[in-house]
Amino acid sequence: MSVKVRFAPSPTGYLHAGNVRTAIVTWLFARSQDGHFLLRIDDTDTERSKPEYEEDIESAMMWLGMDWDEKTRQRDRTDRYNELIEKLKTDGRLYACYETPEELSLKRKTLLGRGKPPIYDRAALELTDEQKTAYKAEGRSPHWRFKLNHEPIEWDDLVRGEVRFNGADLSDPVLIRETGLPLYHLCSVIDDMDYDMTHVVRGEDHVSNTATHIQMFEALGAPVPTFVHLPMISDTEGGKLSKRLGSMSARDFRDNEKLEPMSIVSLLSRLGSADPIMPFTSIKPLVDEFDISKFSKGAPKFDMEELLRLNSKIIHQTPFEDVNVRLAHMDMEELDEDFWHAIRPNLGKLEDIKEWWDVVSGNVEPIIEDPDFAAQAAELLPPEPWNENTWKEWTEKVKETTGRKGKDLFMPLRQALTGMDHGPELGALLPLLGAEKVRQRLTKHKQAA
Ligand code: GLU
Repeated sequence: MSVKVRFAPSPTGYLHAGNVRTAIVTWLFARSQDGHFLLRIDDTDTERSKPEYEEDIESAMMWLGMDWDEKTRQRDRTDRYNELIEKLKTDGRLYACYETPEELSLKRKTLLGRGKPPIYDRAALELTDEQKTAYKAEGRSPHWRFKLNHEPIEWDDLVRGEVRFNGADLSDPVLIRETGLPLYHLCSVIDDMDYDMTHVVRGEDHVSNTATHIQMFEALGAPVPTFVHLPMISDTEGGKLSKRLGSMSARDFRDNEKLEPMSIVSLLSRLGSADPIMPFTSIKPLVDEFDISKFSKGAPKFDMEELLRLNSKIIHQTPFEDVNVRLAHMDMEELDEDFWHAIRPNLGKLEDIKEWWDVVSGNVEPIIEDPDFAAQAAELLPPEPWNENTWKEWTEKVKETTGRKGKDLFMPLRQALTGMDHGPELGALLPLLGAEKVRQRLTKHKQAA
């Protein structure tokens, strides 16, 4: 039986780092098994779900290089859900409850106050027909709970190993709201059944949901998929992923941080796995080497510094043909392959190249405080061809001749060549500028005078 998996985000916000990780691991699992990958939009929450978030999910997936074989939306499947709701009602697995949220919260508090777990007491099962009629007359509409069997629930999780629950320790989950709207648990199980999911990969925040879902699969007469619960990502101190990172979205990585998609894929595909985290410039080797059994259940740490390091290493390996279109969109269409190769090792992010490009190709206004020194330095320029050692060779000579050193030597040269007192490394810049431009900039003051 070939692998069929899904990634099931709710379109209630931008796709965040935790979900991106679930998507990548699920996608790699599918692709490494020649399996089928379904993108399922869990939009049962009609108030919070928005088309712009659904678009964001799709564009983030495409940016990260993840395609899907099929897509479905829960809101398009209402008829199917209703059909199976009728079956579960007939079978006595769904029961009507009339408690208000306030009444439920009071019950919970009372139980907790007595040191007991806040498990729903099933009072609704005892309601007589008269009581139900009275509630309806009051204008109350029922919500519906799934009646769990009070028996052991066990599964062999591909990451967590043997997991055990008992139905008696869990509240009967609410599957249908007062409004008649079926909720996530029910829709998810019906979809997993109808789309023949062989595996369900998701965050460990769903572990106890899984226990109830297993009984729902059984109640619907469906095979139970294999579960894979990935641990939640923590921050570098081992705490919950901090607010800033927790809310960090693929869109932030792309539009604000301006990171390479492969740096995110490289990090999140292996975070928490025994495989080493390395910079990958393409997703293919990650597919080839992917092994779900290498993931462990300890919470892995997300380190922004590590992501930035991967990003720069990826840029350093990126061939010109993979960036030239992007550079053109950044108004650097004349930037050629030689420039790319010379500057690439100095970049942390692709956009850093702009500063280098402006210095080399732009109309730089040299800053020259000591025109004689600048002119003297111009005289000492080594003959072309220039390479990455030319800067050292030249400044050694200038040092010997003028007796200047350290900041007094380097700052005036930087200011003359770049018009700035900080910026790109001059050793790499010099050969790109070439003797003519360098001489012009050093002697600009003299010519103007
Ligand atoms: N929409 C759910 C979530 O984002 C899906 C969980 C699942 O994969 O079943 O948490």
